Amino acid sequence: MFKLFTKKNDKPQKERKCPKCLGEVPSGATKCKHCGSKLPLELTKSNVIATVIVIFFVIWAVVSCSKSVDEAAKQPKDPKDTARTCAKYEVKAMLKSPKSAEFPWDMNINMTEDGKYAVLSYVDSQNSFGAMLRTNFLCTVKVLDVDNFKCETKCIFNE
Ligand SMILES: [Zn+2]
Repeated sequence: MFKLFTKKNDKPQKERKCPKCLGEVPSGATKCKHCGSKLPLELTKSNVIATVIVIFFVIWAVVSCSKSVDEAAKQPKDPKDTARTCAKYEVKAMLKSPKSAEFPWDMNINMTEDGKYAVLSYVDSQNSFGAMLRTNFLCTVKVLDVDNFKCETKCIFNE
């Protein structure tokens, strides 16, 4: 397609006519050598094609750019992720040795009827004697701000 386009462009463009005096002027001239009037920009096929292609690419660039911005803005954080983070934070605060806390990779998170999240899982952490103990917990998380991890979190341990 590109080859076709350049071939057309390479075609020698011959004289054209001045729209005012109808005298022949070389193609590409901006002024008529006979009457001195300004000549309109020549609308050859290749010129039109080139212009259309340029316009198309500009539109495409603008559309694809705004699209990616939109997609980035439209991709909200999963409230479940926020609920999980809030639950971990709250559970850690209740542990004797928060630094030793190890949570499972997968947590059971379900939305409750009132729009809160029930996080049911367990945590392994050291007790006051330094032994690793597994503690089951159930957290009820009301996500207030998904993006900034603001929640109302209540957790209970069932050992
Ligand atoms: Zn002329």
